Amino acid sequence: MCGIICYCGHKQAVPILIEGLKRLEYRGYDSAGFSIVDKGKNKIVKAKGRVSRLEEKKIGLAMNSTFGIAHTRWATHGKPSEINAHPQTDCANKISVVHNGIIENYLELKKELEEKGHRFKSETDTEVIPHLIEENFDGDLEVAVLKSVERLRGTFGIAVLHADIDHQIIIVKRGSPIIVGVGKNEYFAASDSNALAPFTNKMIYLSDDEMAVLNTSGYYIKNLKNELLEKKIEVLDASEYKIDKRGFEHYMLKEIFEQPESVQNAYRGRLIESEGVSKLGGLEPVINRLKNINKLIIVSCGTSYYAGLLGRYIFENLTELNIETELASEFRYRRLKLDENVAVLAISQSGETADTLAAIKEAKRKGALLLGIVNTVGTSIAQITDAGVYNHAGPEIGVASTKIYTSQLVILTLMALLIGRYQHISFSEGSEIINALTGLPGQIREILSNAKDIKEIALKYSKYRGFLYIGRLYNYPTAMEGALKLKEISYIHAEGYPAGEMKHGPISLIDKNFPTVAIAPDDLTLDKMVSNMQEIKARNGKILSITNSATQKVLGISDDTIIVPKTIPILQPILNIIPLQLFAYYIANERGCDIDKPRNLAKSVTVE
Ligand code: GLU
Repeated sequence: MCGIICYCGHKQAVPILIEGLKRLEYRGYDSAGFSIVDKGKNKIVKAKGRVSRLEEKKIGLAMNSTFGIAHTRWATHGKPSEINAHPQTDCANKISVVHNGIIENYLELKKELEEKGHRFKSETDTEVIPHLIEENFDGDLEVAVLKSVERLRGTFGIAVLHADIDHQIIIVKRGSPIIVGVGKNEYFAASDSNALAPFTNKMIYLSDDEMAVLNTSGYYIKNLKNELLEKKIEVLDASEYKIDKRGFEHYMLKEIFEQPESVQNAYRGRLIESEGVSKLGGLEPVINRLKNINKLIIVSCGTSYYAGLLGRYIFENLTELNIETELASEFRYRRLKLDENVAVLAISQSGETADTLAAIKEAKRKGALLLGIVNTVGTSIAQITDAGVYNHAGPEIGVASTKIYTSQLVILTLMALLIGRYQHISFSEGSEIINALTGLPGQIREILSNAKDIKEIALKYSKYRGFLYIGRLYNYPTAMEGALKLKEISYIHAEGYPAGEMKHGPISLIDKNFPTVAIAPDDLTLDKMVSNMQEIKARNGKILSITNSATQKVLGISDDTIIVPKTIPILQPILNIIPLQLFAYYIANERGCDIDKPRNLAKSVTVE
């Protein structure tokens, strides 16, 4: 959720920490802070709000320290405020800690530490960590950290420094991401590789219950049993973490416009046209097991959950598997029978989504085959799963997911095609899907070239206070995802609903002030969709329709219509969502919302 960046080297630390924080700000952004050590003094600067506020504050501070730790917060315990911002410190202000995650037993630890005389300043769960380390400190920070993390329950990625110990930073990972960056006589740690892009492309991914100790002469990695570990240094390709807006006003808009490429990258090199099938190298090690599974459960959250919902329809159409899609946060409460004939597929952009991680850990315990669709290489979900497929969509910075959603849909289709071709899908059906897939980038470009018209329509709708989005079959998840986009970035309430269910409840909301977005492509549901639209019209509701069928049936009944190109029904949602992303974007922009960093949200949700 939050972002951590640490520097230990010979250059001025503050500019590096600030640059890293800015690159991490999409992860969490309610407050930020850093701690640097200068001549044995722990200098801490914090600010409520954005990193730019912190940057303004650091002016006037002597900046000659060459090591420090920094954090941008997404509050879980205690409101966003300067006091609650990290780093959190011990009583003597010597030990600084930045933390990503939640300490579940903090109340119990806090009570115990208070009884021993520790004074707490913040409302955070994090503050127990520096006090615990202070309590255990006897000249050796490493020993104190090891002793302290033994007491912590919950999830954490932490970085620790002590003002009396020159150039030493200790990081520990359990459940929340933190990686080590290796430079030339300088070492870094960060929540993700994006933060380190300007400084190094050599990364070491820690696993849970591992600790790294950084100093100017090097680094070493241990497990929490204090045994030294050999870890591989991964050298990242520039495309894996390149970040800039390329002239777009917002990352979200840039990412919407990147979809012709990100969709193509999702299938590039993964199609065997001569056999009408897909080829997914990441699944090859488990292909024999995969052929024998009889049930697939897709687990995910947020936008990835809607991709999973649509995945259910795609798999049902192309394979003989039993399919379920479950919210990761609910999965653990279910008493599902999982065994080696069941595959659990986790979908997560960040690869660190805590709910999804918890769900697949549960599935692993029960012996299911674990699969993943992840965008960020080397992350926890990618490590835990038995096999998986990367999106290769490049970093997605806008908090509201766009290009990853469409990329996930392409990969779900490739997976279903792969399995389906071992089952009942024929060569010609496989070829039809491949043709449709390869046509998508051009069709998406066509939609994007009409962005101006979509903007005009969006401006007409920007003053409404609530929306209903409806669709059937493959476009029921599209309705949910379209509504989510609007909610996330414009703060307008929008409800996505299966169109057939409308008459069982939400129809009571319809009047002239409550518009409906109807996703009504030309498929077997069109006539029923048109009937639902009639029901709305009969109640004076305004209708914006998204369709690939410019017939009077749809045009005649809609106040506004956005026409998209036509593809096969299972892929049509990839085209239908694009105008809905733009619609949400232009409304939010018109309303002056902070599109890339919507309030209360964070990109990588690493708490449960
Ligand atoms: N639980 C901690 C807090 O609320 C850390 C939150 C985060 O990951 O930013 O301060």
